[in-house]
Amino acid sequence: MSRPASRPKHVSKADLPQKPCAVCNRPFAWRKKWARVWDDVKYCSERCRRDARKR
Ligand SMILES: [Zn+2]
Repeated sequence: MSRPASRPKHVSKADLPQKPCAVCNRPFAWRKKWARVWDDVKYCSERCRRDARKR
């Protein structure tokens, strides 16, 4: 999981990190809006985040 020091500016979507949603269990990919909070993102969508709180 080590990254090279110099990264290319254009990263293809296939290279984006992914992780499974805590609610629907589907893998979702990194998004730019999550750049700062990726480690804290647990749900693929706003809907799943709300579902997680309902249960
Ligand atoms: Zn989800």
